[in-house]
Amino acid sequence: MNRVYLSLGSNLSNPLYQLSSALNKIKKIQDSQLIIQSPLYYSLPYSPIKQPYFLNIAIAIDTSLESETLLDHIQYIEKEQGRVRQIERWGPRTLDIDIMLFGEKIINTPRLTVPHYDMNNRAFMLIPLLDIAPNLYLPNGKLLSEIIDSFDQNTMKSVMKSPFLT
Ligand code: ATP
Ligand code: MG
Ligand code: MG
Repeated sequence: MNRVYLSLGSNLSNPLYQLSSALNKIKKIQDSQLIIQSPLYYSLPYSPIKQPYFLNIAIAIDTSLESETLLDHIQYIEKEQGRVRQIERWGPRTLDIDIMLFGEKIINTPRLTVPHYDMNNRAFMLIPLLDIAPNLYLPNGKLLSEIIDSFDQNTMKSVMKSPFLT
């Protein structure tokens, strides 16, 4: 069994609906259990492409699936919810589900890089993650909260907790 941390984001076609629908499907993935979900966050687009702001959450699941089998499930959910992979990366999307961490594993296959290759630079991934795993150490031995402490002000301001109860 591995504790897996996922990052979910959406900025098209009713993002709140996209995230709640994705959560309901994730709860049904075989041999897996949703453990905790973060509050909802708003974030500014991370990429230079002009597009709407995002809604993001982080969740923890426990799974006995292999990492690439879990990836199959999450890519199926992305596809079901109308994710169209564009040639241009980092454009707007109905739903993105990324595996941030898969237990303590370090994975480098053609389909999967874990820990997520850029998570340590992304406030919209790490700040929701801190809510659900306040004492987490990353596989590189760094404390999650210390990485967040080192973010500059603009990075911190790019992510805001939703003022609404979710
Ligand atoms: P970014 O990876 O920069 O956040 P993205 O999430 O928009 O960009 P996608 O189009 O969702 O990128 O995924 C591109 C490919 O990344 C997928 O086909 C998948 O096989 C691969 N991939 C590698 N590592 C991971 C991971 N940790 N989680 C999800 N997908 C991954
Ligand atoms: Mg992504
Ligand atoms: Mg992705």
